[in-house]
Amino acid sequence: MEISMSWEKNVRRVEPYVAGEQPKREGVIKLNTNECPYPPSPKVKEVLRQMNCEKLRLYPDMDAQKLVDALADYYHVRPEQVFVGVGSDDVLAMAFMTFFYGDKPILFPDITYSFYDVWAELLRIPYRTCALDEEFCIRKEDYFVPNGGIVIPNPNAPTGVLEDVSFFEEIIAANPDSVVIVDEAYVDFGGESTIPLTEKYDNLLVVQTFSKSRAMAGARIGFAIGNEKLIGYLKDVKFSFNSYTMNMPVIEMGTAAVLDDAYFKEIVGKIVKTREWTKKQLKRLGFSLADSKANFLFATHEKVFAKDIFLALKENNIYVRHWNKERIGNYLRITIGTDEQMEKLVAFLEDYLQ
Ligand SMILES: *Cc1c(COP(=O)(O)O)cnc(C)c1O
Repeated sequence: MEISMSWEKNVRRVEPYVAGEQPKREGVIKLNTNECPYPPSPKVKEVLRQMNCEKLRLYPDMDAQKLVDALADYYHVRPEQVFVGVGSDDVLAMAFMTFFYGDKPILFPDITYSFYDVWAELLRIPYRTCALDEEFCIRKEDYFVPNGGIVIPNPNAPTGVLEDVSFFEEIIAANPDSVVIVDEAYVDFGGESTIPLTEKYDNLLVVQTFSKSRAMAGARIGFAIGNEKLIGYLKDVKFSFNSYTMNMPVIEMGTAAVLDDAYFKEIVGKIVKTREWTKKQLKRLGFSLADSKANFLFATHEKVFAKDIFLALKENNIYVRHWNKERIGNYLRITIGTDEQMEKLVAFLEDYLQ
């Protein structure tokens, strides 16, 4: 038996979030963490090339006003409605800390982004999960009960299942006493954003990220849009915790990315096209999959165990994601890569599944 040190009773003990593997080897086809297979906008590279390092002497603008203004302009909201952070994980963690401070449990789906329960445990927030139906769809009635807050991704992850704006409007309207967070990490790949609803509902916080559709996971940029009062509370908590989180080069790079809308639409369009092609191929090979509207597919094979396919792929330098978890243990989550990468995946599976 392990002996505890006397100081250990004062330790905040948590079970950390487990992210997908980042293999150090070269030549891996990496389809396991939903990154974009294309580089960020060339305008981002230009910013880095012209960066004046002299400015690094100074603290960055803690409001990241330039980036906030660019986002406000892009999404047709006022700058006071925008909050930015170090990836949407940072934004979501701040939002949990700020808005989920009641006694009643917060609600989220049983199959969803696996960081939610980690933050709830870390921050001692009571929570209850609501089971998705057999088709992995959210049952909105589950959210028509007293609660301390709600967080749901749209499209959901790792299923890729999208709900429309009116579905979320019902949940938001039914919960005037709670903040409802819609995590739109994947909305750009074929969903409609709930951002316009922030004008009508002061309890809605929409969170998005530059990590997937804007090809900038390494830069760590996320943001939230909501009612001005909501954003004000979020800033109060952030500036009580760590003010200077967004660094100066990243604020400039993020702004350049937002301004290059043509490039953004081009890479998102390519990924959507590749996704639809890959869906057809996987179905042909005996997989069943939900109709994902994200940059990944969630697939199960009729005859071969997901774990076996996962290991065979990995052995052949193709990384996808698999969880040893209830309900989803026989599924693979496959990020959409380039056409060439997906052709290699399909060719391997064709051979392996024979
Ligand atoms: C990827 C992801 C995030 C976090 O992404 P960041 O890189 O921290 O911006 C948040 N929510 C969901 C559902 C995600 O898949």
